[in-house]
Amino acid sequence: MGGYGPPHSSWKGNLNVSYNVGPGFTTNYSTRKVKMHIHSHNEVRRIYNVVGTIRGEVEPDRYVILGGHRDSWVFGGIDPQSGAAVVHEIVRSFGKLKKKGWRPRRTVIFASWDAEEFGLLGSTEWAEENAKVLQARAVAYINADSSIEGNYTLRVDCTPLMYRLVYSLTKEIPSPDEGFEGKSLYESWYKKNPSREYKEVPRINKLGSGNDFEVFFQRLGIASGRARYSKNLVKKYSSYPVYHSVYETYEIVERFYDPTFKNHLTVAQVRGGLVFELANSIVLPFDCRDYASAVSNYAHIIYNLSRNHEEELATYNVSFDALFSAVKNFSEVAASFHERLQQIDINKIQQMIQKQISFIHYKMFYFPNAGYCCFFPQLPYRHVVFAPSSHNKYAGESFPGIYDAMFDIKNKADQHEAWDEVRRQISIAAFTVQAAAETLKEVA
Ligand SMILES: [Zn+2]
Repeated sequence: MGGYGPPHSSWKGNLNVSYNVGPGFTTNYSTRKVKMHIHSHNEVRRIYNVVGTIRGEVEPDRYVILGGHRDSWVFGGIDPQSGAAVVHEIVRSFGKLKKKGWRPRRTVIFASWDAEEFGLLGSTEWAEENAKVLQARAVAYINADSSIEGNYTLRVDCTPLMYRLVYSLTKEIPSPDEGFEGKSLYESWYKKNPSREYKEVPRINKLGSGNDFEVFFQRLGIASGRARYSKNLVKKYSSYPVYHSVYETYEIVERFYDPTFKNHLTVAQVRGGLVFELANSIVLPFDCRDYASAVSNYAHIIYNLSRNHEEELATYNVSFDALFSAVKNFSEVAASFHERLQQIDINKIQQMIQKQISFIHYKMFYFPNAGYCCFFPQLPYRHVVFAPSSHNKYAGESFPGIYDAMFDIKNKADQHEAWDEVRRQISIAAFTVQAAAETLKEVA
């Protein structure tokens, strides 16, 4: 439609059509005022989480949780039903195995959360209610919101403990992408989105928030991960165009995003595979060396950031030495822990006395919580290594305490106090990383 005024160039998209606003905004559109009438009202509503459990055969008191939300803003064709459908399919496949008499080694909990869009209410209420039990027993949480936000390649955000599990699993899954027939998901993913930090592996992101894993990962310190099919240029466009709108329908998925549902299938294989491995491997498929190298990487990032203030670092006697020393200890202990783990004969482990099995799992189990700092409950987020970014809730931040203390520090009134806070946050981080290293050390 022509005839109406063109919008300011900064509003324009990149499609090869003429952009117009109106009718009625032909002139002075930049100074117009808009009056909006919002008809929303407060009322108390009941919400429902649906939770199903398959009791573990060998370690029933260890939980692997697959959870995703069910509520949506409008029709929810993508968010969340493209993900909720996948949860149903995974439940169905576990059900098939169970009918044959199979049980997972550990207990698997499937959860359909309500009221995610209203502030992660369903998952948060459930996890708060069960916090004590979950902190003692949950080994992993896999999140299952939308399976697609594009159809370009896989996107994974997870704890570094799961990197190797994700890589080995995606090597077993066929790629759904055109031009990658006969190749693995890992290959197409790596080709399309290689890691910047690590050589020759696909990119995996930090967990942020804005979704149901928040309470499990950021608050309770449970190892968590999520996977979905995504678009190119994730950095440029944080969301997909119809996100949360009335246009998110089943039709848009079937006609445009994923006509054969091959990407849905792939995401189901990744999410289901993760749950299966976490619930069934004799030794938990976590690798603490990757956690160590991630923490070391984050320490360098935050240190480099601090070097914008060389003068103040000297004036206020701020040093990162304690953090680097703790990170070094952590890396060494993680390497030797991994070595000891390799010496365990997996075949024999079944016959080991229950006490020893529990001991190994005790170690593997407490490790996911490395970085969880119960001594500083006044921190807004209790995970010392990860937090949702305070500037973008969907993104993740590393060493958030130090980061926030240094953010915009030049404009803080009391410089002495501000740098004191940076020093305090470095101490908390160093203490926590060192404490995590201690839990992995061989006992005398
Ligand atoms: Zn959602």
